[in-house]
Amino acid sequence: MRNISLKPYQSINRQLITDGFWLLEDIKWMRRALTLAKQGAERGEVPVVAVLVHNQQIIGQGFNEPIGRHDVTAHAEIIALREACTRLNNYRLPRQTTLYVTLEPCTMCIGALIHARVDRLIYAASEPRAGMVGSQMNLPTQDFYNHTIQAYKGLCSTHSSLMLKTFFRKRRQLAKKNQNIETNE
Ligand SMILES: [Zn+2]
Repeated sequence: MRNISLKPYQSINRQLITDGFWLLEDIKWMRRALTLAKQGAERGEVPVVAVLVHNQQIIGQGFNEPIGRHDVTAHAEIIALREACTRLNNYRLPRQTTLYVTLEPCTMCIGALIHARVDRLIYAASEPRAGMVGSQMNLPTQDFYNHTIQAYKGLCSTHSSLMLKTFFRKRRQLAKKNQNIETNE
């Protein structure tokens, strides 16, 4: 797969800056998330996927599907957390979980990740409009929370951004086409 960014971790938690490189397993799980995101796009959902990993095993994963589920909270991260908590029969996750998500989390999702005590968060594309892990605000670095998430951005970001751009472009084209059909009727 092209566009794998083998560049140093870009930690956005000031206290946790590291000079390391993306681990091979991080690349593997983010690729998995991107493959699932492509499937989501084919079903008409915004292609955002979260994969929650513990001991190199997936314990939860989710597509962004608020439209299909008629559920405003059905963001990929929330679905992955719900799946893991149900599977583990626990409202909190075991230590050393990593959540891989193809887009920077929003306010709701970063809150849920903190409540669930996810250890590491790695996201691909930034969300400049409402991202809460560095773009608009950096919630994981706020010291009023009693849990700290190590957050890293930019793994496979080009791939994820391109997929999102393509999805929204196609959706706009489709909306325009439908509008033209209505006008001509
Ligand atoms: Zn969200």
